[in-house]
Amino acid sequence: MTASRSASFEGAIAFAQDLIRIPSLPGEEGELTRRVVAEMEQLGYDEVRTDELGNVVGIVRGGSGPTVMLSAHLDMVAEGDPDEWEYPPFDGVIAEGCLHGRGAMDIKGPLALQTHVAAALRGRTPGDIIVAHPVYEERGGWGMDHLTRPDGGLRPDLVIIGESTQGDIAIGHRGRAEIEIVGTGLAGHASAPDRARNALDLVPPILAGVADLAASQDSDDVLGPASVVATGVDAVPASLNVIPDRVTVTLDWRILPVDTEESLVTRVQDALGPHLRRFDTEDGGGRGAAVEVRMATQLQRAYTGVEEERRILSPGFLMEPGHPFVTAAADAVGKRAGRGPARVRPWVFATDGGWTCGVRGIPTIGFAPGEERYAHTNTERLDLDEARWGYAKYLDLVPAVQQVAVAG
Ligand SMILES: [Zn+2]
Repeated sequence: MTASRSASFEGAIAFAQDLIRIPSLPGEEGELTRRVVAEMEQLGYDEVRTDELGNVVGIVRGGSGPTVMLSAHLDMVAEGDPDEWEYPPFDGVIAEGCLHGRGAMDIKGPLALQTHVAAALRGRTPGDIIVAHPVYEERGGWGMDHLTRPDGGLRPDLVIIGESTQGDIAIGHRGRAEIEIVGTGLAGHASAPDRARNALDLVPPILAGVADLAASQDSDDVLGPASVVATGVDAVPASLNVIPDRVTVTLDWRILPVDTEESLVTRVQDALGPHLRRFDTEDGGGRGAAVEVRMATQLQRAYTGVEEERRILSPGFLMEPGHPFVTAAADAVGKRAGRGPARVRPWVFATDGGWTCGVRGIPTIGFAPGEERYAHTNTERLDLDEARWGYAKYLDLVPAVQQVAVAG
């Protein structure tokens, strides 16, 4: 395609303002997607398409060398009460040297920077640049899971995620899983408890098992400890004059990259076992009780109409701090203030890197301007001096990591 607009930092920020003005909750990214596709076409990308979930993929061809994928998600978290915002959440205001609004840094600002950087690098890189902006990152990463699926998905040599790092190089994070422990009894009228088996009787032993589990969490030298905690109890039927026959205890588990769905479920079962034993016998107070441990799921619906029952799982990942991609990236970016390579560290939150690296094994790093503490808040903003620096550094970063892959 012939470019009708040239890539620039100023153009990227104007583009980011437009993106902020288009709300895009998970499953509602359609209008935003059309805007992103239009920008890529105007910037002269060689190929622009969307897939069945509505993910955007743009390609700037660079030759036969290694392929770098730049990625920032299309969706955003809800804005909450607009009156609580200092600047309106969907106006794209520029004031006090910052771009303001929902998505300014998470992640429409960085998305716009990445999208312009790829076009600016046309003819200056040894390999292709894929710019892939997926849907549904804020609800576990269905879009990226699909984009990099083993059968026919994208397979770049390196992924750079545009979640805020404040100019550092991010190399991983813990993941998150939601687990449900479902106990079953026998419903009955509250006036006749002898004829029922109250599922709520299972809650104390379940919580005791969860406490054991929480006390035996592993730790990673870089990412820190995993942690698990019960965050909800739900009984049905909900009528308060009925003895419930089903109770669900939900766990929020911040997991390490080695954890798998199977290992998580097994560990919960093992932790509960000793506490539930008395319910298995005819005498010990119980008259039989069934407890099932499973991954929590949620029916998700893409704006294209595709639906899938998704497990609530954001995988973790961790790159070796000494990996050649990481050191090349840290050298190419450098410290924003002072000399030497950029700081290398994990993120505190989960990203789509859990899919690209943790599950699919594609080397993945993160780099973007913006301070994590503003994410998901009503003071979300992107400092424009830092963004300008980040744009320039991206222009150095992409060819630098492609050179490493050539050498390797
Ligand atoms: Zn984000």
